[in-house]
Amino acid sequence: MSDFLLEGRPLELRGHHLLCVHGFRGMGYSPAFITSMRKIVEGFRDDTLDFTIRVLNDLDDTCQVCPHKGQGICEASEGSEIHVQTLDQAVINHLQLKSGQLYRKSEVVERVKKRVVPDDLDQLCKGCSWLRYGVCKEGIDLLKKGEYLTIQD
Ligand code: SF4
Repeated sequence: MSDFLLEGRPLELRGHHLLCVHGFRGMGYSPAFITSMRKIVEGFRDDTLDFTIRVLNDLDDTCQVCPHKGQGICEASEGSEIHVQTLDQAVINHLQLKSGQLYRKSEVVERVKKRVVPDDLDQLCKGCSWLRYGVCKEGIDLLKKGEYLTIQD
């Protein structure tokens, strides 16, 4: 179970990660990141489970164990902080959400399902290194059919 559920607090999730959770198949930046992301994604794909999310355009729960986390910013490469914030805001705008606000998981999943089509990721995720693998578009496609990607061990 994820830390946020054990601690009884909202999950903090940055805007673009509202899409990433549907494309996650077990790849990631480090073993600790993969373990943390896996728990969060399993929560998203469990239709019997609902919880509260604070949507951010800032470091979130997944960033806390990411090897690219710097002093309050993403330091994956030069310019990555501005890049990820641009992605966050694009997704937040597309889903008509507000940064800093609380939402139920079921609501944000429904918004992604209704408002995002796979090819939207070409713009919403522009510049993301994972886009070329196609799994994120596949995840959105499956979500719209009421299915989820399988996480590979
Ligand atoms: S392409 Fe990148 S930003 Fe978009 S859903 Fe996939 S991992 Fe997330």
